[in-house]
Amino acid sequence: MGIILPMRQVYLDYAATTPVDPRVRKAMEPYLKQEFGNPSSLHRWGRRARLAIDSVRETLAQALGCDPAEICFVSSGTESCNLAIIGCALKAPPNRRHILLSAVEHHCVLDAGKWLEAFGYEVELIPVDSYGQVHLDAVAEHLRDETWLVSVMHANNEIGTLQPVEAIGRLCRERGVWFHVDAVQTFGLLPVSVDTIGCDLLSVSAHKIYAPKGTGALYVRAMTPLLPLMVGGGQERDRRAGTENVAGIVAFAEAVRIAQQEREQEAERLRDLRDRFIQAVLETIPETSLTGHPTERLPGSAHFRFRGVPADSLLIALDRAGIGASSGAACSAGSLEPSHVLLALGWDEASAQEGVRFSLGRGTTWDDLEYTLDVLQEQIKRIRQLPARTAQEMVLH
Ligand SMILES: *Cc1c(COP(=O)(O)O)cnc(C)c1O
Repeated sequence: MGIILPMRQVYLDYAATTPVDPRVRKAMEPYLKQEFGNPSSLHRWGRRARLAIDSVRETLAQALGCDPAEICFVSSGTESCNLAIIGCALKAPPNRRHILLSAVEHHCVLDAGKWLEAFGYEVELIPVDSYGQVHLDAVAEHLRDETWLVSVMHANNEIGTLQPVEAIGRLCRERGVWFHVDAVQTFGLLPVSVDTIGCDLLSVSAHKIYAPKGTGALYVRAMTPLLPLMVGGGQERDRRAGTENVAGIVAFAEAVRIAQQEREQEAERLRDLRDRFIQAVLETIPETSLTGHPTERLPGSAHFRFRGVPADSLLIALDRAGIGASSGAACSAGSLEPSHVLLALGWDEASAQEGVRFSLGRGTTWDDLEYTLDVLQEQIKRIRQLPARTAQEMVLH
């Protein structure tokens, strides 16, 4: 009888989610046990829960460089972006119902735009260059007297490109336009200061920084118009009703505290691993290109196009070898929608089926990446030797 060795597992999808840090789990534990009070209750259980939330609100406020009262806890990055876009737009006077979103925003921003369109708003997309960057002139060209709100993300989750949000923030302020930034991918890894960026609204999410899923926050600069989307109990200064996720909020703050301490060193380590991995992939796998900006990119993000290699086939082969990577595309009901981000870079639909993302994080070692490189070389060679699949087969796959 042979011995079955446990399969090696290499997780390279930290941009999708991260594992919970043991220190974070420890910090939230009392709030899943004896500290179960409802923060709106007046008795001691309630007061202790309220105290916990208010003290960690300060941690988040310090990290972002804002006032604690400007932090609104919500259920996710998605809710944070929805509340920012829809909540702010619903306060626009009738002659200011023009909204600008970058073409590479996360679906939670783009679909909030679609939602507003159904209610008579005019939503325009700001184009990006072939690296996925928004140019300041493109924003300036699209701004009108009717423009109410601009939303540009800090870094793209799919291809890792960083955006010149500070310059866009200055322009929006000059023009008297509200500015939202989706900082879900950068917060905890790069410096994110709301005053340096010059934004009025900024979204962050806990599960991208080693805390559990289901908690996010929206920074709302004082005086920014915002209609709540959840109504009922008046929590979060009437910006978001619903009993607070106390354990989740405490966990988020602990994750922020850890990130503040370790961020710079970790970003440096990831940049080094990322650059060595990118170089090795480009040198050893023919017909391969790096997607996104060569330097202005997230520390842990590497996205490639492997010509003639359908991403779905490669991802299945990688998964069989214990490697978790991703295509940015949303795979639903058997059809692989081409990524709107890759299309925005100017890629055609066929090329957009060949994009694969590797996102590195705290658990990633060079050994993991060497193993991934070996598997990539072998599997890409194998897939390229298969007879080409027809477009129909790709859809049915
Ligand atoms: C993950 C992500 C979101 C959504 O956050 P959730 O907490 O998963 O809802 C929004 N924007 C970006 C850029 C993201 O990477």
